[in-house]
Amino acid sequence: MIAGRLRSPECDFCAEFGTEYSPLTATDAPPKSSRVIHASDGWYIVPSVGPIVEGHLLVCPQSHLTAVLDACDEQVRIADRVLSEAVRILREKFNAKGILICEHGTGAGEQQRSGACVEHAHIHVSPGPVDVINFMRDRVTIASEWHPNLVAIRANHQAGAGYLLLGTEQETDGRRLWLSETGEVLPRQWFRQVLAKAAGSAQEWDWRKTKNEETFARTLKIARTQSNWG
Ligand SMILES: [Zn+2]
Ligand SMILES: [Zn+2]
Repeated sequence: MIAGRLRSPECDFCAEFGTEYSPLTATDAPPKSSRVIHASDGWYIVPSVGPIVEGHLLVCPQSHLTAVLDACDEQVRIADRVLSEAVRILREKFNAKGILICEHGTGAGEQQRSGACVEHAHIHVSPGPVDVINFMRDRVTIASEWHPNLVAIRANHQAGAGYLLLGTEQETDGRRLWLSETGEVLPRQWFRQVLAKAAGSAQEWDWRKTKNEETFARTLKIARTQSNWG
């Protein structure tokens, strides 16, 4: 179980996931949300609302957290596993070659920092050109070399500090994650903005305005089909 607040009354994700503060239901209750495509130990994979491209997914905890790297060791390990599942879904069902990973972890009282779009922690996992992540990496201060998973990169995280987590996963060189923790104020929904521009739909980054319902429905349908690998 994730320590801390399990549910935030003002949070859209908490309302959708139906998280309730009960020792009996906090982690094992079936998801109430209809867009959940994978659920494991209190973590979900869902298609992003207003997906920028087909296969634009989010990995998020059922319970209210504002940053994945602020979760306890066990939860970060589960998040890593669910992230790998999202990558597998993109490879097998969406034939994704390059996969992009981004989380804007919100520090305490820092909702405007790190380009956050929703306070409830969520890792964007999407097919797309690695140039998107390279572009973002060039504009922030990266503290260290890349790390292959969330557990490893967390060693560079100062608990409670806002951050930007960037990553790529290519068939040739595996998963690489970078962390920027300088507290720079970044554009709103920054990953969505950069990905939308790369996808040739620069005006459609704001999920509150552009729902991209057809792409959302297609993503949900493809993610739920039986893969060729069984
Ligand atoms: Zn929440
Ligand atoms: Zn986001």
